[in-house]
Amino acid sequence: MFQAYQRLLSKLDESVARIEKLHGAYLTCHKGCADCCNDILTFYRVEIDSIVEYLREIDAAEREQILAGLKQFRADGMRHPCPMLDEGGNCRIYSARPLLCRSHGLLFNVSETAGSVEIERSCDLNYNEVILCEIPVSETLNQRLLSMLLIQVNALYCTENSYDPEKRHELSEIPELMED
Ligand code: SF4
Repeated sequence: MFQAYQRLLSKLDESVARIEKLHGAYLTCHKGCADCCNDILTFYRVEIDSIVEYLREIDAAEREQILAGLKQFRADGMRHPCPMLDEGGNCRIYSARPLLCRSHGLLFNVSETAGSVEIERSCDLNYNEVILCEIPVSETLNQRLLSMLLIQVNALYCTENSYDPEKRHELSEIPELMED
């Protein structure tokens, strides 16, 4: 059910690993840094359901702990930081984290038209002391392409499952969605 989405994540992971190897000196990302997990994030249904599937497969006690945390987060009306963070600043669903979480930290190519190159930092902690326009485009992530592919994969998944492809969800909705 999630093959197309998993293929997209695998491709992205390959690109991220390649770029991280080249740009290690410019990156401050490390286990426990959750700076990019502080925004209010919403996700497509295919991303949320893939996390639901992951939660169904993990140890029951761990699953219950994560779900209880999500319910509390929602009951408290909280919006950030991300409810999947543990006390140590680590992601509780790291291997199942969504696309945006996997790409964060690197440079995005946000060019509007073919031929033009506009590169942006996705995290202010990285790529300091670097002249962005000197970085080859092949060492950046194409934000528009990634978004377009994710939209397509989600549309396909939603069509197959009669969901609204436009609707986005917060991670704290997961306990409710698991009961459906
Ligand atoms: S899902 Fe994980 S990586 Fe993504 S924002 Fe939440 S804690 Fe961070």
